[in-house]
Amino acid sequence: MELIFEKSTEGRKGFAFGASDVPVRAQVPAPYARKEDAPLPQVSELDVVRHYTRLSQKNFSIDTHFYPLGSCTMKYNPKFTESLSRLSGFTDLHPLLAQLSGGERWTQGALEVLYELEQWMCAMTGFKHFTMQPLAGAHGELTGIMLMAAYHKHKNNARKKYVIIPDSAHGTNPASAAIAGYETISIPSNKEGGMDLEALKAAVNEETAGLMMTVPSTYGVFEPNITEIAKIIHGVDGIMYYDGANLNAVLGRCRPGDLGFDVMHINTHKTFTTPHGGGGPGAGPVGVNEKLAKFLPISRVIKRGDGTFALDYNYTDTIGYIASFYGNFGLLVRAYAYILMLGKEGLLETANHAVLNANYIMKKLAPYYKLCFDRICMHESVFSASKQAERGVHAIDIAKFLIDEQIHPPTVYFPISVPEAIMIEPTETESKQTMDYYIGKMVEADKLSQENPAAFKEFPKTMPISRPDEVKAARDVKTSYFLVTSSDAS
Ligand SMILES: *Cc1c(COP(=O)(O)O)cnc(C)c1O
Repeated sequence: MELIFEKSTEGRKGFAFGASDVPVRAQVPAPYARKEDAPLPQVSELDVVRHYTRLSQKNFSIDTHFYPLGSCTMKYNPKFTESLSRLSGFTDLHPLLAQLSGGERWTQGALEVLYELEQWMCAMTGFKHFTMQPLAGAHGELTGIMLMAAYHKHKNNARKKYVIIPDSAHGTNPASAAIAGYETISIPSNKEGGMDLEALKAAVNEETAGLMMTVPSTYGVFEPNITEIAKIIHGVDGIMYYDGANLNAVLGRCRPGDLGFDVMHINTHKTFTTPHGGGGPGAGPVGVNEKLAKFLPISRVIKRGDGTFALDYNYTDTIGYIASFYGNFGLLVRAYAYILMLGKEGLLETANHAVLNANYIMKKLAPYYKLCFDRICMHESVFSASKQAERGVHAIDIAKFLIDEQIHPPTVYFPISVPEAIMIEPTETESKQTMDYYIGKMVEADKLSQENPAAFKEFPKTMPISRPDEVKAARDVKTSYFLVTSSDAS
């Protein structure tokens, strides 16, 4: 496909700016001002619209394709939450309005959304308080670990040095612990995908600051020994952190706050809609029990006796600000709308369907692909393409095959502890028909791997680019057309 620059025709215009009513370049100091016009593509409106529409159609998106990416829940943006988040009563609010004298009354609706969402999250998870401020799951983790650090500091416990993390954890867990100043200890998983209790006991001592756990884990497995694990960690005054990225699998079924956890984050973009992917904005509200409540970031939203809402900054032990203003507010509106739409019964159905759908795919594919753990899974299942790899067809080849079949590939090569991993998560929102289409294509891939393994090397055939050097494509991106044409025309 041609670049927009290659479609440029000298003198063609799609848009004309009105004459400037301020002195041109008046504000730009000479060393920084352009000496000549920027070499922008010269194209008509139709050229632009067609180019970018076509480009967008080459992309895989939730609105166009099935997305069974594991460790990446939701993948669904209902249009009604989109439109509610665009209500001008929300979008036109100035973020400082609530702090201006008399401004509070204009922000009551927005503050109520934040307050009510907190109540719902507490009810769903069994925690006492939530902050809506963190801007992503990983940011929620960092906030949670900072609360953990504040707790130990408040107790003058300088010996706390380590955060314990199972080997199945998402990479952001050790990263968050490290950014907060802790060293990490990795605990191996046992044959059932749970935590090895003996290894845990051997690792825990007075220097243990806490433990981070994802439940259900990235293997799609529920940890049966949580109570025992919490006892071990609390025995040395450690903090139990719950990574809630997979909350959809247990929503309405069990509450992390009741299981012995002290702090958790929710990925609104995984459990409660809100756009996801491409590194887009997220929100990672963090919930805590009373132990950590006084350290929560500011501001907090409070409800007064007369039913009005206000921002409260008056917390002496707070870890302070972790985001500008009130977090990613538009995403919180979407999450709130989705929760209200589902209601208590709908939230429970979420977990039922997420687990049912994941097990449906797991059972149907088990005769063809090697299952990592042969037990009922939660929200996702992990396979290994080891049988296919013996025929010369690897997980990446199967992913490329699926692209030609109009399916976004599942997660491959993660978790890293599983060779040739294929991790599949349909989520609760996909229909049986869609999953059957996907299952059919996975079975077809297995059959083709037996009949004609060489065919896989050519997939995908329908995309503008087939097999880029993936490391180079990720690490050495050249986004400048002029750079590429002038120095590296090849
Ligand atoms: C996605 C995910 C995270 C990180 O969340 P972001 O919102 O992407 O920062 C953390 N832990 C697990 C288990 C996840 O799946």
